[in-house]
Amino acid sequence: MKTLVWVEHDGTTVKDATLNAVTAASKLGEVHLLVAGEGVGAVAEAAAKIAGVGKVHVADGAPFAHALAENVAPLVAELMGHHDAFVAPATTTGKNIAPRVAALLDVMQISDILSVEAEDTFTRPIYAGNAIATVQTSDAKKVITVRTTAFDKAAAEGGSGTVEAVSAAAGDAGLSTFEGQEIAKSARPELTSAKVIVSGGRALGSSEQFHALIDPLADKLGAGVGASRAAVDAGYAPNDYQVGQTGKIVAPEVYVAVGISGAIQHLAGMKDSKTIIAINKDEDAPIFQVADLGLVGDLFKVVPELTEKL
Ligand code: FAD
Repeated sequence: MKTLVWVEHDGTTVKDATLNAVTAASKLGEVHLLVAGEGVGAVAEAAAKIAGVGKVHVADGAPFAHALAENVAPLVAELMGHHDAFVAPATTTGKNIAPRVAALLDVMQISDILSVEAEDTFTRPIYAGNAIATVQTSDAKKVITVRTTAFDKAAAEGGSGTVEAVSAAAGDAGLSTFEGQEIAKSARPELTSAKVIVSGGRALGSSEQFHALIDPLADKLGAGVGASRAAVDAGYAPNDYQVGQTGKIVAPEVYVAVGISGAIQHLAGMKDSKTIIAINKDEDAPIFQVADLGLVGDLFKVVPELTEKL
């Protein structure tokens, strides 16, 4: 079985989520990659070094800059003439491209897989991760998105793929144009790849208090900063901090939940973390049911104390 993995990149480097998707794809058979973008020679070279990769198809041109899904999807659909499965990480952009590919191929998408049981059989979470469904497809061409936290990263070095320019007809579909982007810059590790995350909840009470308490603790731990949806909705933390069902799915080594109750929608985004530490003044808060370590206390007292002791 030949699988085509969409390479997520920032124009110069391959994003980590791609490496998890490669591991998932390798369970299906031969792995080919697609690097689409403008001026992506360096990305293609890096992609060819990923362990276990065969061919790296490179579509280099203006229509593929900024990963506009309306242009990338027809390109993938064309390349699927020579592949049996398309795999993308279930990231914001991956989830934008894959359904369009499925529609163009007139097949069902298999979303957010957790494991590959057989060539046609996969597991995936349902009901916000409260149940795991085993799904089987009879489609000849498979379109799959991968929950990155469920698969180890493939080694970024050690492969010797061959780079090949794509001679596809697909170009600018004329459906969308790139207007601009605002990228939040942070010296802290990115949430989905951070080894340690400190998240704050509604209990922080204001944006000032959120940053005054959560940021120093995160800095001491070299951690990424996350937030509950309540904290984001109240404006205490930016949108891209949100962890959960409608936010980011994370699985760091250590997840520190500060003043977060542990609603199922929040747990859906972080309960696979290796060690969960909860700080909450309510000893009956549901977060303590998933926590490995719990501290019952007033966060305004214990967080500064903890930060100082660290
Ligand atoms: P609360 O539930 O209000 O909890 C605050 C906690 O802080 C309480 O446990 C309280 O005991 C504790 N506390 C208060 N004061 C202190 C203090 N001084 N010291 C210590 N502890 C204190 N939520 C998400 O997080 N992510 C999602 O992706 C998400 N998606 C959703 C999708 C849908 C469709 C819906 C319906 C909801 C979603 N939610 C999501 C919202 C979710 O249901 C909860 O409302 C939210 O997670 C609550 O956030 P919180 O824990 O910060 O606030």
